[in-house]
Amino acid sequence: MSHVLACAIALLVYTTALGGGLNVGAGDLSLVLGANPSPSEKRAGELFAERAQERSGVTLAAPGDTGSVRLVIGTTSSNDLIKEFAATHDQVGKLGADGYCISADAGTRVIHVAGQSDSGVVAGVGRLMRELRYRDGTLEVPALLVAETPTMPNRGIYLWARKYYFDQPDELDRYIEEFALWGGNGICFWFEMGMFQSFVDTSGEKSELNTSYAKQYKLDKSLARDWVTMYKRFYATGRRLGMKTGLLMVANDAYMSSPKELRIEPIVGCPEWYLCPSKPGSVEKMVAWQEEVFRALAPIDIYNIFPADPGGCSCKECAPWPTRGFRSVALALGDRIHEVSPQTEIWIDTWHLNHPTFGGKDWTNLVDGLDWSKERPGWFSGFEVGLAPKHGYARMSAEERDHYNDARQPLMVFPEISMWGNHPGMLVNKEYWKELRAELNGYSPDLMKGGWPYSERWNTDIVSLMFLSWFWNPQKSVDAILDEYAAFYFGPEAAAGRQLLDLLDDGNKDPDRKAKIREALAALEASLPAWAKRDWRWQEIVTSCNRFK
Ligand SMILES: [Zn+2]
Repeated sequence: MSHVLACAIALLVYTTALGGGLNVGAGDLSLVLGANPSPSEKRAGELFAERAQERSGVTLAAPGDTGSVRLVIGTTSSNDLIKEFAATHDQVGKLGADGYCISADAGTRVIHVAGQSDSGVVAGVGRLMRELRYRDGTLEVPALLVAETPTMPNRGIYLWARKYYFDQPDELDRYIEEFALWGGNGICFWFEMGMFQSFVDTSGEKSELNTSYAKQYKLDKSLARDWVTMYKRFYATGRRLGMKTGLLMVANDAYMSSPKELRIEPIVGCPEWYLCPSKPGSVEKMVAWQEEVFRALAPIDIYNIFPADPGGCSCKECAPWPTRGFRSVALALGDRIHEVSPQTEIWIDTWHLNHPTFGGKDWTNLVDGLDWSKERPGWFSGFEVGLAPKHGYARMSAEERDHYNDARQPLMVFPEISMWGNHPGMLVNKEYWKELRAELNGYSPDLMKGGWPYSERWNTDIVSLMFLSWFWNPQKSVDAILDEYAAFYFGPEAAAGRQLLDLLDDGNKDPDRKAKIREALAALEASLPAWAKRDWRWQEIVTSCNRFK
């Protein structure tokens, strides 16, 4: 039993095979889901239909109509036609977790997207969308038979919960969906208690927040309950496309109304209202507060406990922070979150612990202690390590990476993609990205489970997708990913768009760079299809070009 879903009125019907591929016109393509399609499959179908309409003006066949080309999507359990496809294509049975297999056959006039999971179906539909060529009135579908399985299970993106994203909730929903189409399966946010007076925060008063930090990030009058509503919305958007939810919490974070007698001794980068875990009763309070947030945002698949930046305490009892203050609260938090939600993965992050104020190399003792000692908690999923070659206190040397490799614990990465070389408009920095990829590949492949690049705002789009691509295949080259990006977002002007991205590269030393950027921009403004210019990415690229006026 199959169910035909289609989206709009058929205006014009024509289909021809071309060079082994298919040309699909309006009303000619039927989307065929299974009898009980998952929300991910339905949404992936909608996103496919929207993109075809937006770029080519091609509407899919109306409900009940049977177009002459069929796009069959699903898993072997959600769609009987995928089950039949798998019987003749052993690639489907061989897919690993979240993999997909796509076939486009001009002879049978059927396109199959078989996913191993919801996330695999979505990634497969995204790949198909990137393989199409969008002409005016026609979709060109090349002959295809591809199967791919991601190397790493946690393929996420960390979006800083601030105005750049949270002030544009509709755009953020679409952005999360776009990540899923590129093969992402995780969305992570930091819930920063220190932004709020309290969890209820009914007054909106911010008596201690009259700082430049607060003004810069428009923190005045944010209510925790309003933010919880937004987190839940964005997590739901991700879940609908088969993504996991990640929550980052700083171990000793606290609301601004925290009891003064429980507060920290000042330490680098940490607001004064954070709690000192060595003071009686404070660990209990931190655990209770974090449990409250965790329950409000549940279900959470991955819970990350951060040590610093901000975080920490410089009192005698808490030092050295990694193995004393931080460890005591991290273990208590992990124990409680595990009791509340045994299926949640709990990761310990070690960001910023190379700063001398955190006890020199005491982090190595933390790693050793959670490795082979009898104290290793049963819930411990692994270490999340920074990839930040230009950051004075978060970078890792090759020897330090080997310390993790030797510990033989699972690893995730937290790559720094926002702060260095940051400027208005789209960021392009191939040499830096190659360094990041080399570091990612400096960890033992059998330990590396993925991660989430740290993104502060929209201009990290390309490098975020770079990481998603590497979580699928960490050997994929920077240039190959840039080519794929240019093909998808510049369409017929992919080559010219790619040249412009290379000119915008922060490492580009061409003496005529400024003039070339101006020329390339003007040429693309004249030749890009309207759909490419409507995409916000183009505006980010224009902003980046305008630095060279
Ligand atoms: Zn302390």
